[in-house]
Amino acid sequence: RAKWSRVVGVLREFEEGCSTSGHRLRQVVDAMAVEMHAGLASEGGSKLKMLLTFVDNLPNGNEKGLYYALDLGGTHFRVLRVHLKGTKQKILDHKVEKQAIPPHLLTGTSEELFGFIALTLKRFIEKEGDDFELQPVSRRDLGFTFSFPVRQTSVSSGFLIKWTKGFAIEDMVGKDVAECLQSARTMLGLDVRVAALINDSAGTLALGHYHDEDTMVAVIIGTGTNACYIERADAIIKCQGLISNSGGMVINMEWGNFWSSHLPRTPYDVDLDAESPNPYDQGFEKMISGMYLGDIVRRVILRMAKEADLFGEVGKSLSEPFTLRTPLMCAMHQDESSDLREVARIMEETLEVSNIPLRVRRLVVRVCDAVTRRAARLAAAGIVGILKKIGRDGKGGSSSNSSEGVRRTVVAIEGGLYENYSLFREYMRDALEEILGEEMSQNVVLRLSQDGSGLGAALLAAAVSSSS
Ligand code: ADP
Repeated sequence: RAKWSRVVGVLREFEEGCSTSGHRLRQVVDAMAVEMHAGLASEGGSKLKMLLTFVDNLPNGNEKGLYYALDLGGTHFRVLRVHLKGTKQKILDHKVEKQAIPPHLLTGTSEELFGFIALTLKRFIEKEGDDFELQPVSRRDLGFTFSFPVRQTSVSSGFLIKWTKGFAIEDMVGKDVAECLQSARTMLGLDVRVAALINDSAGTLALGHYHDEDTMVAVIIGTGTNACYIERADAIIKCQGLISNSGGMVINMEWGNFWSSHLPRTPYDVDLDAESPNPYDQGFEKMISGMYLGDIVRRVILRMAKEADLFGEVGKSLSEPFTLRTPLMCAMHQDESSDLREVARIMEETLEVSNIPLRVRRLVVRVCDAVTRRAARLAAAGIVGILKKIGRDGKGGSSSNSSEGVRRTVVAIEGGLYENYSLFREYMRDALEEILGEEMSQNVVLRLSQDGSGLGAALLAAAVSSSS
């Protein structure tokens, strides 16, 4: 009995630590908007890097031709070919090939990684022809989605600032990403040109905008998390005299690194961070994205197990980081069987604990719920922070023009976590409504985007090629 109340105590304490009241969410909204300002005011002015993408024109449906894209940034690597008809029908005739990245390449050398990428591209191009009735092309334009923090020097070049999401290829930091691909390509005799170097959120924004011109913001919630949005060029104070044809520019926020004392942080987050390869880094991402959610849950279960000898001797799997992957955590959370047998099965298979009583299974579900609820609500607060910055939160902020009334804003969201985790989506939508109020939130559309990170790169390659 005393043991059981200790276990419940661990849960209660955790739930309190994760709490995201409406008041707290509004503090996060304000902090996000403030940090965005700071990051745009000066280089290094905020933990939010607010990186320039040099993308000032988003595709509008008039683009024509055959374009390629490479998409690297998480667990998978994709190669795409897109045929744009330029008819404004906005149908993307495309072909995608997806491959898992061999794990040893995540920590090897840049030559090995880019050798692999270029070879995959070459094989893909060599297979082309039959399904696209086109004349052979002399030069191929490529959009390269590289979803790590990059300091852009132009729309098609930039160097890697740091790795995230488990990648650690030291020799690559500080190198020009497009050049790395260029040398691998040259070695293979491939005739392609990187027309646009972007990240996944910019790709998602480009695809979103292609379909719906009210799309102003894109958010990625997959293995990692990030956001980008369209900013007025004159608001980018750190870069005076910026040349922009449209008067706007896509800003890559790198919001995974956002931090504020208002974020509800628990001791489990502190430990996860300390044991990660990038401590003190990507604090927002570590509370929100798929790479981490399962592991926070595991840590809480481990603590419960130790506190009260819940499962007898604690097996090795429960003590080992990242044994509980987020998709499995999601399956436990959404287990609808009356005896929570999925929870029991997953716990047994992945964490080596068996004969779990029903009341313990219920606690596990509550842990999952607390972790996911916090993640989704923080992501929603982040989005409202962006809306506030661009004067689209309905509050008539400094940059909004009240005579225009409240405008509809679409937020394109992409990523395996958002796509596959329905409770996450529900919590996010609820939080958005809670922060903005029911009426205002009607003007904000959260739209699931798919393949935007790759398709968007091809679209941007097209938009850049046709404007140059
Ligand atoms: P990446 O971000 O790796 O490029 P995705 O956007 O497909 O690729 O996201 C994959 C991530 O999404 C996984 O790492 C996992 O954390 C999360 N994910 C995938 N499937 C599910 C699921 N069914 N439930 C919850 N999370 C999932």
